Amino acid sequence: MASEINETETREKSLNFLEEIIEESIAKGEKRVQTRFPPEPNGYLHIGHAKSICINFGLAKKYGGRCNLRFDDTNPVKEDVEYVDSIKRDIQWLGFQWAEEHYASDYFDQLYEWALELIRKGLAYVDDQTQEQIRENRGTVSVPGTPSPWRDRSVEENLDLFVRMKNGEFPDGSKVLRAKIDMAHPNMLFRDPIMYRIIHAEHHRTGNKWCIYPMYDYAHGQSDSIERITHSICTLEFDVHRPLYDWFIQALGIYPSHQYEFARLNLTYTLMSKRRLLKLVQEGAVMGWDDPRMPTICALRRKGYTPASVRNFAEMVGVAKRDNVIDLGKLEYCVREDLNKVAERRMAVLNPLKVVITNYPEGRTELFTAINNPEDEAAGTRQVPFSRELYIERDDFMENPPKKFFRLQPGGEVRLRYAYLIKCEEVVKDAEGNITELRCTYDPMSGNGSSSDGRRVKGVIHWVSAQDAVEAEIRLFNPLFTKENPDDVEEGQTWEDNLNPESMVKITGYLEPSLRETPVGQAVQFERVGYFCPDTDSTPEHLVFNRTVTLKDSWAKINK
Ligand code: ATP
Ligand code: MG
Repeated sequence: MASEINETETREKSLNFLEEIIEESIAKGEKRVQTRFPPEPNGYLHIGHAKSICINFGLAKKYGGRCNLRFDDTNPVKEDVEYVDSIKRDIQWLGFQWAEEHYASDYFDQLYEWALELIRKGLAYVDDQTQEQIRENRGTVSVPGTPSPWRDRSVEENLDLFVRMKNGEFPDGSKVLRAKIDMAHPNMLFRDPIMYRIIHAEHHRTGNKWCIYPMYDYAHGQSDSIERITHSICTLEFDVHRPLYDWFIQALGIYPSHQYEFARLNLTYTLMSKRRLLKLVQEGAVMGWDDPRMPTICALRRKGYTPASVRNFAEMVGVAKRDNVIDLGKLEYCVREDLNKVAERRMAVLNPLKVVITNYPEGRTELFTAINNPEDEAAGTRQVPFSRELYIERDDFMENPPKKFFRLQPGGEVRLRYAYLIKCEEVVKDAEGNITELRCTYDPMSGNGSSSDGRRVKGVIHWVSAQDAVEAEIRLFNPLFTKENPDDVEEGQTWEDNLNPESMVKITGYLEPSLRETPVGQAVQFERVGYFCPDTDSTPEHLVFNRTVTLKDSWAKINK
């Protein structure tokens, strides 16, 4: 863990490669830093997007610039306002605010005008080939493509056909508009890339105004240019698109935005593809996009993650130029670090063993003062009820313990956190020999950390008063996949065969009564157990708590 902290510190001293690029451009006289985050509203954002958000908004902030939010809504079939709304909520939850909100669809008129201009310049043509023919005639890396029989249509004919495409005269798939570049180009994307296709579908913003929709390569760079984006930052798989990005901008002679690529975030035991996450949602493999096992931002929020923990994670993994896979444990480390500072402490018993204090008066209840957060004095204190019958964790008692076991054992003494010293006098068992109850005595002089004769005991355990405890459903989460790389499959299997059947385990826990008041989504530490927060399914009649993260990195060790 210490090495991770050092890595972060070192990185803060030196610039990452994107910061170097920006500082160079500023040194060359660039006055503005304008970035953008360009999600396609076809799913919920995941932790990979969070990294991109932190980079784009973070760079703008660091250099006194601006970052726009632009929805890349060029495919009406897959997109929806539900996604638009969730994306905005997630960005704001992460702590960022966009300078301007834009939609690629707002630029459809301008893009159309520019397409006409390219036709007039002889740089675009309408092709009647089918998708399949276009694919076949594109050639391979070693074999040049075959020009379309429609490649040399006159400007007039192209203008006429393109306008009629726009007017809805042709069915889906019957024609496309292509840039006329070079069918033998070594970069396959330059072999007359498709600019527009016909899709007769209602768009969530433009309705039925359009039945032709621009392709990514034709829309993205031009949208950047319209917004005068100085640094268009995207993930590595787009590096082969960069020359085409530049080509369109040059051919149109418009504001020269530039594209820079960084390595996308990959996490062990996790998938980052919206398409596959959607499949899990649609097939009911998870409870929804915000199922706490999902890698989405809304799932992390529901699970009890704080915005700071996600931002710190993005900072810790840094900006790389080459693809890599980050250990899921790092994300958990970040949330643990942050929650240790901000989460209030509570007592809860997840695997109960009943303790009866035989010399404690029946019917009596006392309140003990408990500290809410030892890391934050301002968090104050609360009262915890104590009575004759308690629950402790089963693991905190051993009948035949090894030498260094400092918790409860027959004839041994232990401190109940914030309350008394108790001594185990008798172990009660059922017919099968299972321990059902411990009968203990307490030292009445031992409240508040003292004892009747100044003796000290080594073990301190947590507890709840049986009559006051609140029952709650506790959801324990484990990684969604059993394999570090979910795509690591046997023959005939798919990534879905690697779903972890134990990714969610439900148990019943017994909580101190103050936990009734904890707001949904706010993580607290169950002392000695882990961090938990009330789930969105929680009601006053049926409390539900999610395990945000364990106290220690336990599963990583077990799984390796
Ligand atoms: P997915 O493959 O999950 O569907 P996407 O790339 O299609 O993601 P977009 O909505 O196009 O999703 O992404 C918006 C921005 O987020 C893009 O700039 C993209 O490069 C970036 N991004 C997407 N996935 C990651 C990731 N895993 N790590 C970092 N950035 C990412
Ligand atoms: Mg994309």
